[in-house]
Amino acid sequence: RLDAVEQAPPDPILGVSEAFKKDTSPDKLNLGVGAYRTEELQPYVLKVVRKAEERMLAKDENKEYLPIEGLASFRQATVELLLGADSPAIQEGRVAVLQSLSGTGSLRVGAEFIAKFMPGTVAYISRPTWGNHKNIFADAGVEWREYSYFDPESIGLDFEGMLADLQAAPDGSVVLLHGCAHNPTGVDPTKEQWARIADVLQAKGHLPFFDVAYQGFATGSLEEDAFAPRYFVERGLEFAVAQSYSKNLGLYAERVGAMSFVLSEAGAAQRVLSQMKRIARAIYSNPPVHGARIVAEVVGSEEMFGEWKGEMEMMAGRIKGVRQDLYDALVEINPDKDWSFVLKQIGMFTFTGMTPQQCDNMTNKWHVYMTKDGRLSLAGLSSAKAAYLARAIDDSVRN
Ligand code: PMP
Repeated sequence: RLDAVEQAPPDPILGVSEAFKKDTSPDKLNLGVGAYRTEELQPYVLKVVRKAEERMLAKDENKEYLPIEGLASFRQATVELLLGADSPAIQEGRVAVLQSLSGTGSLRVGAEFIAKFMPGTVAYISRPTWGNHKNIFADAGVEWREYSYFDPESIGLDFEGMLADLQAAPDGSVVLLHGCAHNPTGVDPTKEQWARIADVLQAKGHLPFFDVAYQGFATGSLEEDAFAPRYFVERGLEFAVAQSYSKNLGLYAERVGAMSFVLSEAGAAQRVLSQMKRIARAIYSNPPVHGARIVAEVVGSEEMFGEWKGEMEMMAGRIKGVRQDLYDALVEINPDKDWSFVLKQIGMFTFTGMTPQQCDNMTNKWHVYMTKDGRLSLAGLSSAKAAYLARAIDDSVRN
């Protein structure tokens, strides 16, 4: 019977890395996956992570199961990092926090929760968005629809289109929002725009669901990048939020993150947590401990937290540097074209507007590996290769 199973298509993001590995050209560049590389294009383990691991080893901790909801010190650290330690939501005990399997696993638990306790509710996601959002909601049995987000003319936010679509959605829908550094566009709402988004969400009784995968990578400041969820607490909104430590602590393979709900009262938070635990128990039982201990060590120690901020700024700074290098090289090659979008976009990516055919030219002719939506991960670019990339882009957009 299983002979009839059809081949699944390669993943649009992780499949790119598989193809990259097979390419033998010395010029090849992997700008598909959003993973930070050094100027030498090597993976980077943060020094502060190594230091935390040494301290952990010295403590000789055991490997017993964590509780279903995860490591207590991590759960406290993660919600404080997001909302600020003095947040009234934390002080009033109205945040339900479940340690889960990085951003993806957290989103999935959140989606399962929506399917179970808000049956029939539609999740609205931005057009475009990170490719996996659709899989996550669909596989959890939550219908998704798109709202306008990106304006290809201005290479900016289609703000009026976004508000109109959220207004037109049925009352009480779920609205997925990127906390900062929108993937793939690198275009975020301004503070004034967040205020108007909150107005619409409140008026419509929508449940905001933040995906926070890049805290620290938008502005380089962990606090600034948490503006939107902190502002929603101030506005008295209830919301869901998935956090990931893949990028900002470079813990990609440790799978450390959290799924939280900010609610209006403590009793609701307890009940929601009990139900998230019920969901997690049947999927993976309880979360891994190693990455959670690292986060708790780093965020819990003033000295290491300071070091982390320094390394975050270094990583975000290197990406800003290659963004500028790429822009300069593009202007030099083709001064008649407006390349200003490269500098306007923030975070790890530049969203080029290239067609799938142009992306194919990037890969087939220039050995530049990228996702077919025209997104390039600048975290995988070095200063030394910026001019080469600019030639590849200039050639591809002419075709
Ligand atoms: N959300 C967004 C928008 C992302 O870009 C990513 C990572 N690429 C994630 C969530 C989740 O990643 P992870 O599961 O590694 O934390």
